[in-house]
Amino acid sequence: MRKPIIAGNWKMNKLAADGARFVMSLRDEVPEGSKVDTVICASFIHLPFLTEAARDTPIRIGAQNMHYEKSGAFTGEVSPEMLENILVDYVILGHSERRQYFHEDDELINKKMKAAFENDLLPIVCVGESLEQRENNETNQFVRNQVKAAFEGIREGDAKKAVVAYEPIWAIGTGKTASSEDANEVCRTIRETLRELYSDAVADEVRIQYGGSVKPENIAELLAQSDIDGALVGGASMELESFLKLLEAGA
Ligand code: PEP
Repeated sequence: MRKPIIAGNWKMNKLAADGARFVMSLRDEVPEGSKVDTVICASFIHLPFLTEAARDTPIRIGAQNMHYEKSGAFTGEVSPEMLENILVDYVILGHSERRQYFHEDDELINKKMKAAFENDLLPIVCVGESLEQRENNETNQFVRNQVKAAFEGIREGDAKKAVVAYEPIWAIGTGKTASSEDANEVCRTIRETLRELYSDAVADEVRIQYGGSVKPENIAELLAQSDIDGALVGGASMELESFLKLLEAGA
């Protein structure tokens, strides 16, 4: 059985003290042995405060991006080694906002995947189609190609630790959610792609999240699907009360 994983993506929101207070409050709500893996992904500037606030708890902290090099002349960038050094566990890679606004392509995301594993970080790699691709029935093929490109050259032992987030672009921050059946169909395609690339063991172990306007009202139906193992959540992860409801649904 795959353990559900609910990850909040705060994007470029909150100030450091608010973020730390949020995680301090979460400490009491996420007990040792919790049935759901809880991750908060925040801006770089929050991360040292959040890892400190989450210390000795099952709450895990993630970055929303990183560079693929260990160090060097890359002004303004943050390396995987720097994240690992401050006890960050996860990193979102290839979020559609990074692909769209910062021109990240499949090749760059694959380099970041490799760098994440080399530095003991667990990638949450995002894939998903545009509205136009969905309307042209290109979703499954497009997502398959994104998965293949992201996992190119990743060893089986690492691949099984990855989390894949299926996030249809048209559903992110729009209030529109894919129907749970449609979301499950794409998540199944992702799993079958991993089966072809690797093995049953990898396909059955990798956790696949759905993301795109997930809220307390729709999460239970999404998580009830055979191939959806959690959620990557933007808007509804910002308030403690709604985030706690999402965790409850995952448990
Ligand atoms: C996201 O940020 O990845 C996301 C899915 O956002 P929202 O839940 O607000 O659609």
